[in-house]
Amino acid sequence: TRTQDEGDLPHATKKTMADHLRKYETIFTLTPQRMRIVVEAFKETLELGLEKPKQVVPMIPTFVFDWPTGEETGDFLAVDLGGTNLRVCLVTLQGNGKFEITQSKYRLTEEQKQEDGQKLFDFCAECLKTFIDTNLGEGTVKEGEKLPLGFTFSYPCSQERIDHGELIRWTKGFGATNTEGRDVAAMFRESLKTHNVPAELTAIINDTTGTLIASSYVNPRTRIAVIFGTGCNAAYMERVGDIPKIKNLGIDDEAQMAINCEWGAFDSFEHEHLPRTKYDQIIDETSNKPGEQAFEKLISGRYLGEILRLVICELIDEGVLFLGQNTYKIETAYAFDTAGTVDDHRYFTHFFALETTLAERQFFRALAKLVGRRAARLSACGIAAIVSRMGYLEEGCSVGADGSLYNKYPGFADRVHEGLQDIFGDKGRNIVTYHAEDGSGVGSAIIASMTKIRKDKGLY
Ligand code: BGC
Ligand code: MG
Repeated sequence: TRTQDEGDLPHATKKTMADHLRKYETIFTLTPQRMRIVVEAFKETLELGLEKPKQVVPMIPTFVFDWPTGEETGDFLAVDLGGTNLRVCLVTLQGNGKFEITQSKYRLTEEQKQEDGQKLFDFCAECLKTFIDTNLGEGTVKEGEKLPLGFTFSYPCSQERIDHGELIRWTKGFGATNTEGRDVAAMFRESLKTHNVPAELTAIINDTTGTLIASSYVNPRTRIAVIFGTGCNAAYMERVGDIPKIKNLGIDDEAQMAINCEWGAFDSFEHEHLPRTKYDQIIDETSNKPGEQAFEKLISGRYLGEILRLVICELIDEGVLFLGQNTYKIETAYAFDTAGTVDDHRYFTHFFALETTLAERQFFRALAKLVGRRAARLSACGIAAIVSRMGYLEEGCSVGADGSLYNKYPGFADRVHEGLQDIFGDKGRNIVTYHAEDGSGVGSAIIASMTKIRKDKGLY
């Protein structure tokens, strides 16, 4: 059943596309019952991570203590090494939850992500140096003085102190050599020294921890922070007495410490809890880290477009789509940078030299929705696991969320909220996500300031 509705090319009919859509609907839909099972397994995994060191989901104690008071003040530098960009900021905290920020962004190249790690930190130091020279007026940094610097490094690092972080493993496609297993704070300090940068690395933080702190600075009901970007992860506050694996450190049981969950690693290696499709398996097997970041690979922006592309390729192979057209461009791995614009015919003509019909584009759009909805519902499972562990359901709480997927994927937040209601029933409405404050810049500065206040009190 084919039509010739655009030019002379054979295209699948509307009915054919609708039939295929139904099939994929079944494959990508997560029932409430299944979600509740995932939540239970998730909760057990989080608890195991708090209990014992070196677990798959490492539940990293960050040495960020308690919530900010809002009274943190001063000038702070922040460097944010994310999945896609390097960002350098100067943040002026003005107290009362107010701040000003000046920043520059630099695109990271594929080579920089794979080359020697020290070179990557050298690049960060060079950018910071240029930023200081162009943005800070003469005399801002006095001779021999250094500005406090918060380093947002959004990869799993195990920490013994706030200014120390041993890279457990790269994620998000990074693979810089000679870095895994090493203290990246020490490596960055080395680069700052060689490049004569007047900055003192005082705190190394994860983007989720920064988001948690920055969000609570402006919205005190915040209890959890989640990043839905190139990667996916969450942080929240735990009572030190409830983190068995650090009991021997002699920290006051009643103190609160932020935990960087690194939940993207949930269900890695064993793959016993998450509903993985054959597309998810292909993504995993062809990634630079097979077996790892199993949860993240079903959710984050880095992979959603690829899932969609793999389904389209399957339909090309089956002879359903693009008969008589040259499809090599769309058959290149990671050719879709986003799953967002697939209902624009120019997207296909421009990037892939393919003619599409309206029915086909509607199909792609519906498919993108399915994949996005699954990601949102799985994320709801992770949030629900933390809510359930911490007993936040009755009282309710806010969840600060950030990242390209949360901010740009149409309906993503609504799908997360629906998911929470499917898990918890009506009470699920008590848990509300909102667009968070800039965690990696402002959050990092607030944490640098909190660290300074604690140091001055002799608490570190
Ligand atoms: C990293 C986390 C990070 C998340 C979001 C993940 O791949 O392991 O550390 O928080 O991406 O950026
Ligand atoms: Mg980021």
